[in-house]
Amino acid sequence: MVNYISTRNTNIKVSSSKAILDGQAPDGGLYIPDDLNSIKLDYHDVIKYDFNGMAKVIWNIFFPDYGEDLINDLVERSYKNKFSNEQTTPLEKVGKDYVLELYYGPTAAFKDVALSALPNLLTTAKDLNSFQDEILILTATSGDTGSAALYGFSDVPGTSIIVFFPEGGISETQRLQMVTASGANTYACAIKGNFDDAQSGVKEIFNNIPKPVSGVSLSSANSINIGRLVPQIVYYFSAYRQLLEGGYISDGSKVNFIVPTGNFGDMMAGYFALQMGLPINKLICASNNNDVLTEFFETGHYNRKRPFHKTTSPSMDILVSSNLERLLYYICGPENTANYMKLLAETGEYQINTDELTQLKKIFVGISASDKEGSECIGNIYKNENYLMDTHTAIAWSCLEQFKDKAWAYSNNNEETEYANVVLSTASPYKFCHEVLTAIGAELKFSDESNMQKCQEITGVPIPSGLADVFSKEIRHSKVISTEDMQQYVIDCAKTIGE
Ligand SMILES: *Cc1c(COP(=O)(O)O)cnc(C)c1O
Repeated sequence: MVNYISTRNTNIKVSSSKAILDGQAPDGGLYIPDDLNSIKLDYHDVIKYDFNGMAKVIWNIFFPDYGEDLINDLVERSYKNKFSNEQTTPLEKVGKDYVLELYYGPTAAFKDVALSALPNLLTTAKDLNSFQDEILILTATSGDTGSAALYGFSDVPGTSIIVFFPEGGISETQRLQMVTASGANTYACAIKGNFDDAQSGVKEIFNNIPKPVSGVSLSSANSINIGRLVPQIVYYFSAYRQLLEGGYISDGSKVNFIVPTGNFGDMMAGYFALQMGLPINKLICASNNNDVLTEFFETGHYNRKRPFHKTTSPSMDILVSSNLERLLYYICGPENTANYMKLLAETGEYQINTDELTQLKKIFVGISASDKEGSECIGNIYKNENYLMDTHTAIAWSCLEQFKDKAWAYSNNNEETEYANVVLSTASPYKFCHEVLTAIGAELKFSDESNMQKCQEITGVPIPSGLADVFSKEIRHSKVISTEDMQQYVIDCAKTIGE
């Protein structure tokens, strides 16, 4: 039965519900399953079910202390009437490759898959641990987590949520999704800084004031919470099921997944899918110009001391990719992981050793693409395949093209095998309409709202219902603060909640 240990200290060991309740381990590490052997299975026993059925099998393995009846009920509650596609995460053939569309949830980004689940997992974890405090969720967002988390936690009893987002670092539509968020228990606040500033601010607050006022405890909806990561494993299996159903692959053949990456949560979910036994060849980590992970997978050198680029794929504008720590644990062990994380905090860089790098390269490939390359992909694929993709998906697509150009360089034993390539599509093109219209050579309108209309007219792809109404909703959250004031802001909110 799976328990959770800290990436930095295996003596810290808790149940799955406690790990979800805590968010982060008390020593600053991240919670991970203590034994990868206990998550192994025959993937046929997963892919014989529909999306919810697959979720039930997978959640039951990772969250054993909830018990099967409770898990089955939580899965149903999490996904009922939330996704506008009957496959939940449909797979499309585009040219010779495949796109796994993860954006049919309420806020039109893939984070809905996990953030539909986390509030249910968390409130149940509270009951299972007889935890009385109100839970205050703190979240730093590069754009999409914020709206998905605000939506997921809106008016969930026993919880409140604060989302910090970088002022000017996200699209107008993303901003409106957050500042118009409903729910008496929701707070969205802009900070003067970038995503990394927001994220390190939040991490510090967790360390300094885990209980800001009596009766209120902090938790996290970022992908450092294992309750956010596990629901994402499901769609890797869903992709495989749909490849088989479509007759695109034969049973047992391996697949490459290309993942638009920021905080490495999605990649980590893919790693767990692989460890469970899903036939995966390579996990390709696609980055934009913030290519810290590309260098890492190439050389084993993680170096955050580089310029921060604001790109047209803002949800990937990250230099400190938190979930990589989980992978480090499995490759390097707890002592080295703790050491590397210490070096990262103190010097801004670390270098893993040669053996560790060799292990990594067996599975992972890091590739990056520029805004321009991404934009060209959007234009070309639209023109040639009549398929419209968003800026994040386009970065991954461009990385796939680079990968194919030099696939020989990454093959383990020079075999000439052709693998099916699945690009994860993490957001609806309508979340980044301005850039998407530019890429397909259309004339721009004056506002995001009219750009969406125009995009619909040109392409015939319908505007997701959750995005159509953000322009007419009341603005409820308008605070902008400096990063130094984040802690005080949290305390003030906690006081209101605790009353
Ligand atoms: C969050 C996000 C990503 C990055 O996902 P990680 O799990 O943080 O690596 C990529 N694309 C979009 C659209 C996102 O919202």
